[in-house]
Formats: sequence, C-alpha cells, structure tokens
Amino acid sequence: MGRLIQLAVLVVLGVILYRYVQKKIAPAGSSRPNRRTKTEKLVQCRQCGIRLPESDALRKNDAYYCPRHRGRG
Ligand SMILES: [Zn+2]
Repeated sequence: MGRLIQLAVLVVLGVILYRYVQKKIAPAGSSRPNRRTKTEKLVQCRQCGIRLPESDALRKNDAYYCPRHRGRG
C-alpha cells in the first residue's frame, strides 16, 4: 500500500512540475508581443480601397497601396 501512495505522489508531483514548466515556457495569452496595438494612421489602398496601417502600405506618388497591389500601376 505504501508503494502505491509513493507512486501516486510521484505522479502528482510530475503533473505539477509539468504544468509549472509549461506555464514558464508559454504563459497563456500574454506572451505575444503586440507592438501594433497602438493606434496607427490608417491609409487606403488606391487600387482596392482596403484600409491598412500606414507602415504596411506602400506609398507611391502620394497614393497608398496594400501589399497585394504594391508594385502594380
Ligand atoms: Zn489593394
């Protein structure tokens, strides 16, 4: 009976340790760097009219283009 308890304790400890390590490696939801959460100026693609952050757009002759349309026209 004593060995069974020992085994149970070992298993529980193992699970706790496992979960602890998992949390340390990947904290749920809070690890992703969100540098884009700041309000950025939105611009509109001249080709399709989609709105996108200025840093993602390509500026050309005072007009903005989305990545899909950059390089064209
Ligand atoms: Zn576009």
